[in-house]
Amino acid sequence: MKIIAIGRNYAEHAKELNNPVPTLPVIFMKPDTALLKDNKPFYHPDFSTDIHHEIEVVLKVCKEGKHISEKFAANYYDEIGLGIDFTARDIQNRHKEKGLPWELAKAFDGSAPISNFLPKAQFDNLYNLNLRLDVNGETKQDGNTKDLLFSFEYIIAFVSQYITLKKGDLIYTGTPPGVGKVSVGDRLEGYLNDNKLLDFYVK
Ligand code: ZN
Repeated sequence: MKIIAIGRNYAEHAKELNNPVPTLPVIFMKPDTALLKDNKPFYHPDFSTDIHHEIEVVLKVCKEGKHISEKFAANYYDEIGLGIDFTARDIQNRHKEKGLPWELAKAFDGSAPISNFLPKAQFDNLYNLNLRLDVNGETKQDGNTKDLLFSFEYIIAFVSQYITLKKGDLIYTGTPPGVGKVSVGDRLEGYLNDNKLLDFYVK
């Protein structure tokens, strides 16, 4: 499986990092070795002193497709969950300055904590989902999918023009504002509406 992630998909987050609001989705990928399941602890790597949390809604692809039209894209994901797109912001900033790819800042081991998945059918409106991240009991990110720049269907249609989606692939759909640094000892708790789906420590 592969992990596809969308950058700058909430305007207020793009602005907080002084990035332009994109006119097309910004795409990057993480390898399967980035996944961190079952609320296992995240071991803070030594190569960065500025690992940021980014809470994101994650789609699970349920069938193979390429050149999927936006009209039918909803048929290609049936479950959603919460993930964190851990980002080594110091490395990313150095690479952005030089116009280099982001992999070392985005794709490292454990950089993609993932929750259990819930059937999307249990949610009334996928574009009114609250996603929230508390760090040590204090709310740091509190967003809503109504503020997405690119819808889930648009993302699936866009990505599948270039990359075949396969069953089991995950799509991290971007983070709302409030990203910030994590430190050893922090407890991260993530909520999708009233469902607490993430609860783990940084070690
Ligand atoms: Zn992200």
